Amino acid sequence: MPLSAPKLGEPYLLTPGPLTTSYAVKSAMLRDWGSWDQDFRDMTAKLRSMLVEIADGDDLDCVPIQGSGTFVVEAMLGSFVPRDGKVLVLSNGAYGKRIAETLDYLGRANVVIDKGDYMPPRGDEVAAALAADPDITDVVVVHCETSSGILNPIGEISDVTYGAGRRLLIDSMSSFGAIPVDTKFEALVSSANKCIEGVPGFGFVIASKASLAATKGRSHSLSLDVFAQWDHMNKTGQWRFTPPTHVIAAFLEALRAHKSEGGVAARGARYANNRDVVVAGLRGLGFETLLKDRWLSPIIVTVFCPEHPAFSFSRFYVLMEEKGFIIYPGKLTIVASFRIGCIGQMDEHVMHKVVAATAAALNELGVPDGAPPKLALLERAKLAV
Ligand SMILES: *Cc1c(COP(=O)(O)O)cnc(C)c1O
Repeated sequence: MPLSAPKLGEPYLLTPGPLTTSYAVKSAMLRDWGSWDQDFRDMTAKLRSMLVEIADGDDLDCVPIQGSGTFVVEAMLGSFVPRDGKVLVLSNGAYGKRIAETLDYLGRANVVIDKGDYMPPRGDEVAAALAADPDITDVVVVHCETSSGILNPIGEISDVTYGAGRRLLIDSMSSFGAIPVDTKFEALVSSANKCIEGVPGFGFVIASKASLAATKGRSHSLSLDVFAQWDHMNKTGQWRFTPPTHVIAAFLEALRAHKSEGGVAARGARYANNRDVVVAGLRGLGFETLLKDRWLSPIIVTVFCPEHPAFSFSRFYVLMEEKGFIIYPGKLTIVASFRIGCIGQMDEHVMHKVVAATAAALNELGVPDGAPPKLALLERAKLAV
Protein backbone atom coordinates (compact mmCIF):
# COMPACT_ATOMS: atom_id res chain seq x y z
CA MET A 1 0.00 0.00 0.00
CA PRO A 2 1.51 3.37 -0.96
CA LEU A 3 2.24 5.74 1.89
CA SER A 4 0.73 9.20 1.69
CA ALA A 5 3.21 12.06 1.88
CA PRO A 6 2.33 15.03 4.06
CA LYS A 7 0.80 18.02 2.25
CA LEU A 8 3.16 20.34 0.43
CA GLY A 9 4.97 22.43 3.01
CA GLU A 10 4.03 20.12 5.87
CA PRO A 11 7.14 18.45 7.29
CA TYR A 12 7.64 14.78 8.09
CA LEU A 13 7.72 14.22 11.83
CA LEU A 14 10.82 12.16 12.64
CA THR A 15 9.53 12.10 16.20
CA PRO A 16 8.18 9.09 18.08
CA GLY A 17 4.59 10.30 18.38
CA PRO A 18 2.87 12.51 17.49
CA LEU A 19 4.05 11.23 14.14
CA THR A 20 3.21 11.54 10.46
CA THR A 21 -0.22 10.02 9.84
CA SER A 22 -1.94 9.11 6.58
CA TYR A 23 -4.62 11.16 4.80
CA ALA A 24 -7.10 8.38 5.52
CA VAL A 25 -6.42 8.68 9.26
CA LYS A 26 -6.73 12.47 9.18
CA SER A 27 -9.85 12.35 6.98
CA ALA A 28 -11.61 9.99 9.38
CA MET A 29 -11.84 12.92 11.79
CA LEU A 30 -14.04 15.00 9.45
CA ARG A 31 -17.32 14.03 11.06
CA ASP A 32 -18.88 14.28 14.48
CA TRP A 33 -19.96 11.27 16.50
CA GLY A 34 -22.44 11.08 19.35
CA SER A 35 -20.75 9.17 22.15
CA TRP A 36 -23.98 7.48 23.22
CA ASP A 37 -24.91 6.38 19.71
CA GLN A 38 -24.87 2.66 18.85
CA ASP A 39 -22.56 3.31 15.87
CA PHE A 40 -20.01 4.81 18.21
CA ARG A 41 -20.34 1.98 20.74
CA ASP A 42 -19.67 -0.42 17.88
CA MET A 43 -16.53 1.57 17.07
CA THR A 44 -15.31 1.21 20.66
CA ALA A 45 -15.98 -2.53 20.61
CA LYS A 46 -14.15 -2.87 17.29
CA LEU A 47 -11.17 -0.92 18.57
CA ARG A 48 -10.89 -3.15 21.64
CA SER A 49 -11.19 -6.39 19.68
CA MET A 50 -8.68 -5.32 17.03
CA LEU A 51 -6.13 -4.40 19.71
CA VAL A 52 -6.63 -7.75 21.44
CA GLU A 53 -6.07 -9.42 18.08
CA ILE A 54 -2.74 -7.57 17.67
CA ALA A 55 -1.63 -8.54 21.19
CA ASP A 56 -2.38 -12.15 20.30
CA GLY A 57 -2.47 -13.88 23.69
CA ASP A 58 -4.80 -16.04 25.75
CA ASP A 59 -7.84 -14.57 27.46
CA LEU A 60 -6.72 -10.97 26.84
CA ASP A 61 -8.90 -7.89 26.94
CA CYS A 62 -8.28 -4.23 26.18
CA VAL A 63 -9.28 -1.17 28.21
CA PRO A 64 -8.84 2.22 26.52
CA ILE A 65 -8.29 5.25 28.76
CA GLN A 66 -8.54 8.95 27.79
CA GLY A 67 -5.37 11.05 27.87
CA SER A 68 -1.79 10.76 26.67
CA GLY A 69 0.44 7.74 27.23
CA THR A 70 1.52 8.87 30.69
CA PHE A 71 -2.11 8.78 31.86
CA VAL A 72 -2.45 5.13 30.94
CA VAL A 73 0.91 4.25 32.56
CA GLU A 74 -0.38 5.87 35.74
CA ALA A 75 -3.69 4.03 35.37
CA MET A 76 -1.86 0.70 35.01
CA LEU A 77 0.42 1.29 38.01
CA GLY A 78 -2.42 2.46 40.24
CA SER A 79 -4.68 -0.43 39.23
CA PHE A 80 -2.32 -3.42 38.95
CA VAL A 81 0.08 -2.78 41.83
CA PRO A 82 -1.64 -3.61 45.13
CA ARG A 83 -1.67 -0.72 47.61
CA ASP A 84 0.61 -2.69 49.90
CA GLY A 85 2.73 -3.96 46.99
CA LYS A 86 6.32 -3.06 46.22
CA VAL A 87 7.66 -2.40 42.75
CA LEU A 88 11.06 -3.00 41.20
CA VAL A 89 11.46 -0.36 38.48
CA LEU A 90 14.00 -1.06 35.74
CA SER A 91 15.11 2.36 34.60
CA ASN A 92 17.41 3.30 31.74
CA GLY A 93 16.01 6.60 30.57
CA ALA A 94 13.35 9.24 30.98
CA TYR A 95 10.35 6.91 30.83
CA GLY A 96 11.73 4.56 33.49
CA LYS A 97 12.38 7.59 35.70
CA ARG A 98 8.80 8.75 35.11
CA ILE A 99 7.46 5.37 36.24
CA ALA A 100 9.34 5.64 39.57
CA GLU A 101 8.12 9.22 39.98
CA THR A 102 4.53 8.12 39.31
CA LEU A 103 4.79 5.37 41.93
CA ASP A 104 6.00 7.98 44.44
CA TYR A 105 2.92 10.10 43.66
CA LEU A 106 0.71 7.05 44.09
CA GLY A 107 2.33 6.15 47.41
CA ARG A 108 3.42 2.73 46.13
CA ALA A 109 6.69 1.45 47.62
CA ASN A 110 9.36 1.07 44.96
CA VAL A 111 13.03 0.40 44.39
CA VAL A 112 14.87 1.29 41.21
CA ILE A 113 17.64 -0.43 39.29
CA ASP A 114 19.02 2.67 37.58
CA LYS A 115 21.11 1.81 34.54
CA GLY A 116 21.76 5.43 33.59
CA ASP A 117 21.07 6.79 30.13
CA TYR A 118 21.09 3.67 28.00
CA MET A 119 22.56 0.50 29.55
CA PRO A 120 20.03 -2.35 29.35
CA PRO A 121 18.68 -3.99 32.54
CA ARG A 122 19.61 -7.68 32.34
CA GLY A 123 17.88 -10.82 33.61
CA ASP A 124 20.61 -11.82 36.08
CA GLU A 125 20.59 -8.52 37.96
CA VAL A 126 16.77 -8.53 38.11
CA ALA A 127 16.87 -12.09 39.45
CA ALA A 128 19.39 -11.04 42.11
CA ALA A 129 17.29 -8.02 43.14
CA LEU A 130 14.17 -10.19 43.45
CA ALA A 131 16.00 -12.84 45.46
CA ALA A 132 17.35 -10.16 47.82
CA ASP A 133 13.96 -8.54 48.48
CA PRO A 134 10.99 -10.86 49.03
CA ASP A 135 8.67 -7.85 49.52
CA ILE A 136 8.80 -6.99 45.80
CA THR A 137 5.51 -7.97 44.17
CA ASP A 138 5.81 -6.41 40.71
CA VAL A 139 8.51 -5.52 38.18
CA VAL A 140 8.03 -2.68 35.68
CA VAL A 141 10.05 -2.38 32.47
CA VAL A 142 9.94 -0.10 29.43
CA HIS A 143 10.04 -2.20 26.25
CA CYS A 144 11.56 0.39 23.93
CA GLU A 145 13.05 3.20 26.05
CA THR A 146 12.27 5.99 23.62
CA SER A 147 14.70 8.42 25.23
CA SER A 148 17.70 6.49 23.85
CA GLY A 149 15.95 4.12 21.42
CA ILE A 150 17.19 1.00 23.20
CA LEU A 151 15.13 -2.16 22.91
CA ASN A 152 15.20 -3.66 26.40
CA PRO A 153 15.41 -7.47 26.72
CA ILE A 154 11.89 -8.07 28.07
CA GLY A 155 12.04 -11.83 27.37
CA GLU A 156 14.81 -12.56 29.86
CA ILE A 157 13.29 -10.08 32.34
CA SER A 158 9.90 -11.80 32.13
CA ASP A 159 11.51 -15.23 32.60
CA VAL A 160 13.29 -14.28 35.83
CA THR A 161 10.30 -12.29 37.12
CA TYR A 162 7.85 -15.16 36.77
CA GLY A 163 10.59 -17.62 37.78
CA ALA A 164 10.68 -15.73 41.10
CA GLY A 165 6.88 -15.73 41.38
CA ARG A 166 6.42 -11.99 40.73
CA ARG A 167 4.39 -10.08 38.10
CA LEU A 168 5.62 -8.03 35.12
CA LEU A 169 4.09 -4.74 33.92
CA ILE A 170 5.35 -3.39 30.59
CA ASP A 171 5.39 0.14 29.17
CA SER A 172 5.07 -0.89 25.51
CA MET A 173 4.12 2.62 24.49
CA SER A 174 6.52 3.08 21.59
CA SER A 175 6.74 -0.57 20.46
CA PHE A 176 3.24 -2.08 20.53
CA GLY A 177 2.06 -2.88 17.01
CA ALA A 178 5.58 -3.04 15.55
CA ILE A 179 7.45 -5.38 17.89
CA PRO A 180 5.74 -8.52 19.15
CA VAL A 181 5.45 -9.09 22.90
CA ASP A 182 5.84 -12.86 22.95
CA THR A 183 6.51 -13.14 26.62
CA LYS A 184 4.46 -13.50 29.79
CA PHE A 185 3.18 -10.25 31.35
CA GLU A 186 0.53 -9.03 33.77
CA ALA A 187 -0.42 -5.91 31.83
CA LEU A 188 1.01 -3.72 29.12
CA VAL A 189 0.16 -0.24 27.93
CA SER A 190 0.47 1.71 24.70
CA SER A 191 -1.19 4.71 23.10
CA ALA A 192 -2.93 5.85 19.93
CA ASN A 193 -0.14 7.99 18.48
CA LYS A 194 2.78 5.56 18.29
CA CYS A 195 3.23 2.44 16.13
CA ILE A 196 -0.45 2.07 15.19
CA GLU A 197 -0.07 5.54 13.61
CA GLY A 198 -3.14 7.26 14.99
CA VAL A 199 -3.41 10.77 16.42
CA PRO A 200 -2.93 11.53 20.15
CA GLY A 201 -5.83 11.35 22.61
CA PHE A 202 -5.99 8.02 24.41
CA GLY A 203 -3.98 5.05 25.59
CA PHE A 204 -4.93 1.46 26.32
CA VAL A 205 -4.19 -1.35 28.76
CA ILE A 206 -3.94 -4.94 27.57
CA ALA A 207 -4.21 -7.61 30.22
CA SER A 208 -5.84 -10.97 30.81
CA LYS A 209 -9.44 -10.88 32.00
CA ALA A 210 -8.35 -12.62 35.21
CA SER A 211 -5.74 -9.90 35.91
CA LEU A 212 -8.26 -7.16 35.09
CA ALA A 213 -10.80 -8.69 37.46
CA ALA A 214 -8.18 -8.66 40.23
CA THR A 215 -7.73 -4.88 39.96
CA LYS A 216 -11.16 -4.12 41.43
CA GLY A 217 -11.07 -1.49 44.17
CA ARG A 218 -7.33 -0.83 43.97
CA SER A 219 -7.09 2.44 42.09
CA HIS A 220 -6.35 5.68 43.89
CA SER A 221 -8.05 7.62 41.09
CA LEU A 222 -11.57 7.87 39.74
CA SER A 223 -10.68 8.75 36.14
CA LEU A 224 -7.69 6.37 35.95
CA ASP A 225 -9.42 3.35 37.49
CA VAL A 226 -8.82 0.58 34.93
CA PHE A 227 -11.31 -1.81 36.53
CA ALA A 228 -14.10 0.80 36.60
CA GLN A 229 -13.52 1.70 32.94
CA TRP A 230 -13.41 -1.99 31.94
CA ASP A 231 -16.51 -2.90 33.89
CA HIS A 232 -18.47 0.08 32.58
CA MET A 233 -17.44 -0.59 28.98
CA ASN A 234 -18.39 -4.24 29.27
CA LYS A 235 -21.81 -3.35 30.69
CA THR A 236 -22.73 -0.35 28.53
CA GLY A 237 -20.35 -0.31 25.54
CA GLN A 238 -19.48 3.25 26.51
CA TRP A 239 -16.56 5.15 27.97
CA ARG A 240 -17.21 6.48 31.48
CA PHE A 241 -16.38 10.09 30.57
CA THR A 242 -16.35 12.00 27.26
CA PRO A 243 -14.40 9.87 24.77
CA PRO A 244 -12.07 11.49 22.20
CA THR A 245 -14.54 10.59 19.42
CA HIS A 246 -12.58 11.92 16.44
CA VAL A 247 -9.37 10.35 17.70
CA ILE A 248 -11.12 7.00 17.97
CA ALA A 249 -12.51 7.25 14.44
CA ALA A 250 -9.01 8.05 13.19
CA PHE A 251 -7.54 5.19 15.21
CA LEU A 252 -9.94 2.67 13.66
CA GLU A 253 -8.74 3.80 10.24
CA ALA A 254 -5.14 3.37 11.45
CA LEU A 255 -5.96 -0.13 12.74
CA ARG A 256 -7.42 -1.10 9.37
CA ALA A 257 -4.25 0.12 7.64
CA HIS A 258 -2.11 -1.77 10.16
CA LYS A 259 -3.98 -4.95 9.33
CA SER A 260 -3.87 -4.52 5.56
CA GLU A 261 -0.16 -3.70 5.68
CA GLY A 262 0.35 -7.15 7.23
CA GLY A 263 0.06 -6.57 10.98
CA VAL A 264 2.90 -6.44 13.49
CA ALA A 265 5.41 -8.29 11.29
CA ALA A 266 5.01 -5.98 8.30
CA ARG A 267 4.87 -2.81 10.39
CA GLY A 268 8.01 -3.88 12.25
CA ALA A 269 9.77 -4.74 8.98
CA ARG A 270 9.00 -1.33 7.45
CA TYR A 271 10.31 0.46 10.54
CA ALA A 272 13.42 -1.75 10.70
CA ASN A 273 14.12 -0.93 7.06
CA ASN A 274 13.63 2.79 7.81
CA ARG A 275 16.18 2.47 10.59
CA ASP A 276 18.66 0.51 8.47
CA VAL A 277 18.51 3.05 5.65
CA VAL A 278 18.94 6.08 7.89
CA VAL A 279 21.65 4.48 10.07
CA ALA A 280 23.69 3.31 7.06
CA GLY A 281 23.31 6.72 5.41
CA LEU A 282 24.31 8.69 8.49
CA ARG A 283 27.27 6.39 9.19
CA GLY A 284 28.30 7.03 5.60
CA LEU A 285 28.46 10.74 6.51
CA GLY A 286 30.72 9.93 9.48
CA PHE A 287 28.00 9.98 12.18
CA GLU A 288 27.96 7.35 14.93
CA THR A 289 24.94 5.93 16.74
CA LEU A 290 24.84 5.76 20.53
CA LEU A 291 23.95 2.07 20.48
CA LYS A 292 25.58 -0.89 18.85
CA ASP A 293 23.40 -2.67 16.29
CA ARG A 294 22.23 -5.33 18.72
CA TRP A 295 20.39 -2.78 20.90
CA LEU A 296 19.10 -0.46 18.17
CA SER A 297 15.31 -0.48 18.08
CA PRO A 298 13.39 0.02 14.84
CA ILE A 299 11.56 2.88 16.60
CA ILE A 300 14.03 5.71 17.14
CA VAL A 301 17.80 6.07 16.85
CA THR A 302 20.09 8.29 18.95
CA VAL A 303 22.97 9.80 16.98
CA PHE A 304 25.92 11.69 18.48
CA CYS A 305 26.29 15.32 17.42
CA PRO A 306 29.42 15.98 15.35
CA GLU A 307 32.50 17.24 17.18
CA HIS A 308 33.30 19.97 14.63
CA PRO A 309 33.05 23.45 16.24
CA ALA A 310 30.85 24.77 13.41
CA PHE A 311 28.07 22.33 14.38
CA SER A 312 25.16 23.80 16.31
CA PHE A 313 22.13 21.64 17.05
CA SER A 314 19.69 24.55 16.94
CA ARG A 315 20.92 25.64 13.50
CA PHE A 316 20.95 22.04 12.29
CA TYR A 317 17.35 21.65 13.51
CA VAL A 318 16.19 24.70 11.54
CA LEU A 319 18.03 23.58 8.40
CA MET A 320 16.41 20.12 8.63
CA GLU A 321 13.00 21.68 9.16
CA GLU A 322 13.49 23.85 6.05
CA LYS A 323 14.15 20.63 4.14
CA GLY A 324 10.92 19.08 5.41
CA PHE A 325 12.00 17.09 8.46
CA ILE A 326 11.31 17.69 12.14
CA ILE A 327 14.04 15.92 14.11
CA TYR A 328 14.15 15.33 17.85
CA PRO A 329 16.73 16.60 20.35
CA GLY A 330 18.72 14.01 22.28
CA LYS A 331 18.30 13.23 25.97
CA LEU A 332 21.78 12.02 26.93
CA THR A 333 23.36 13.71 29.91
CA ILE A 334 27.01 13.05 29.01
CA VAL A 335 27.41 13.89 25.32
CA ALA A 336 25.36 15.96 22.86
CA SER A 337 23.05 13.91 20.64
CA PHE A 338 19.91 14.06 18.52
CA ARG A 339 17.29 11.48 17.61
CA ILE A 340 15.69 10.32 14.38
CA GLY A 341 12.34 8.55 14.65
CA CYS A 342 11.67 5.66 12.26
CA ILE A 343 7.92 5.33 12.90
CA GLY A 344 4.92 6.90 11.17
CA GLN A 345 3.85 7.08 7.52
CA MET A 346 7.40 6.89 6.15
CA ASP A 347 9.32 4.37 4.12
CA GLU A 348 12.85 3.94 2.80
CA HIS A 349 12.36 6.62 0.12
CA VAL A 350 11.70 9.16 2.83
CA MET A 351 14.67 7.92 4.87
CA HIS A 352 17.01 8.33 1.88
CA LYS A 353 15.79 11.94 1.68
CA VAL A 354 16.52 12.38 5.38
CA VAL A 355 20.11 11.32 4.75
CA ALA A 356 20.42 13.67 1.77
CA ALA A 357 18.95 16.53 3.83
CA THR A 358 21.43 15.81 6.62
CA ALA A 359 24.36 15.93 4.17
CA ALA A 360 23.09 19.23 2.76
CA ALA A 361 22.57 20.70 6.25
CA LEU A 362 26.13 19.78 7.31
CA ASN A 363 27.41 21.38 4.15
CA GLU A 364 25.52 24.60 4.86
CA LEU A 365 26.89 24.62 8.40
CA GLY A 366 30.43 24.17 7.11
CA VAL A 367 30.83 20.89 8.99
CA PRO A 368 32.90 18.40 6.94
CA ASP A 369 31.46 15.22 8.45
CA GLY A 370 29.43 13.78 11.34
CA ALA A 371 32.40 12.42 13.33
CA PRO A 372 31.56 12.59 17.07
CA PRO A 373 33.96 13.53 19.89
CA LYS A 374 36.20 10.78 21.33
CA LEU A 375 34.24 10.93 24.60
CA ALA A 376 31.12 9.69 22.78
CA LEU A 377 32.93 6.61 21.53
CA LEU A 378 34.38 5.93 24.99
CA GLU A 379 30.84 6.08 26.38
CA ARG A 380 29.61 3.63 23.80
CA ALA A 381 32.47 1.23 24.52
CA LYS A 382 30.90 0.72 27.99
CA LEU A 383 28.17 -1.31 26.28
CA ALA A 384 30.10 -4.56 26.28
CA VAL A 385 27.90 -6.43 23.83
C1 LIG B 1 5.50 8.22 24.40
C2 LIG B 1 5.88 7.40 25.56
C3 LIG B 1 5.17 7.51 26.79
C4 LIG B 1 4.02 8.44 27.03
O1 LIG B 1 4.31 9.76 26.81
P1 LIG B 1 3.14 10.83 26.62
O2 LIG B 1 3.91 12.07 26.30
O3 LIG B 1 2.39 10.92 27.87
O4 LIG B 1 2.28 10.33 25.50
C5 LIG B 1 5.51 6.62 27.80
N1 LIG B 1 6.49 5.73 27.65
C6 LIG B 1 7.21 5.61 26.50
C7 LIG B 1 8.27 4.58 26.41
C8 LIG B 1 6.91 6.46 25.43
O5 LIG B 1 7.60 6.35 24.29
